[in-house]
Amino acid sequence: MFSLNRTFINIFFIFVVTIINYDSIFSVNSPKNNIDGRNIIILCFHDINGDGKYSISEEEFIEILDMLKTKYEVYSLKDWYFKIQNHEKFKKQPIVLTFDDGYASIFSIAIPLLKKYKFGATFFIYLEKYENQPWIFKEMASLPDNFEIGSHSFSHSDMEKLFKSNKKKFYKEIFLSRKKLEFLIGKTVVSWAWPYGAYTKDMIQMADEAGYKIQVNTDYKNTEKEAETTSFSRYTVQNPDPVDQTREILLKNSSYQ
Ligand SMILES: [Zn+2]
Repeated sequence: MFSLNRTFINIFFIFVVTIINYDSIFSVNSPKNNIDGRNIIILCFHDINGDGKYSISEEEFIEILDMLKTKYEVYSLKDWYFKIQNHEKFKKQPIVLTFDDGYASIFSIAIPLLKKYKFGATFFIYLEKYENQPWIFKEMASLPDNFEIGSHSFSHSDMEKLFKSNKKKFYKEIFLSRKKLEFLIGKTVVSWAWPYGAYTKDMIQMADEAGYKIQVNTDYKNTEKEAETTSFSRYTVQNPDPVDQTREILLKNSSYQ
């Protein structure tokens, strides 16, 4: 059944590539993302309940959610972005939660907990990860609206390298990944996360032109670079001491208290 679907999808995309000259996509001038609410705090999680630097335990994750419960409004990137666009006011400091790379724990641990806390979140996934797990897209399609699926490319490649060496592949990773994801989940995809946080000003412009409304990267170190671009930086929540680290990020950056 899925192989039939995949054949159809592949034919569909070959058709799209044929009718759209990818150079023309990038030559279109789209308006710059002029969101001025840069005091947004965007947290980036990876695996929950796994090992390694980027994986935090379920207990630590719950402690962080508890920390956010009373003093903050917690959104997906998309919901935060549209609130800003509509000039809606926040009563409390807005926080955006994002989860990169589509680990199994987002379905088994993060989403059930986020539902319990009534928090929104964005999940950035790259399509190759699920090549043999088509049912996951059905699960994504049925998520409530406060959960957003964003694109994190096709293959999680180093986009900066591709940008220099293979524009066609770069185009596929950034533009067609969005189109294919939209097709698979039946929802509009507006958010993009740079794999490995690698980006340049020109690349960001291309992602704008590929139709993304919101772009995020991973580091918060190069603030000068961020100021020049429309990609928002995120704080990666990682080991050691992810709870203390998050507490510090919130204290240092909250502008509503
Ligand atoms: Zn990633």
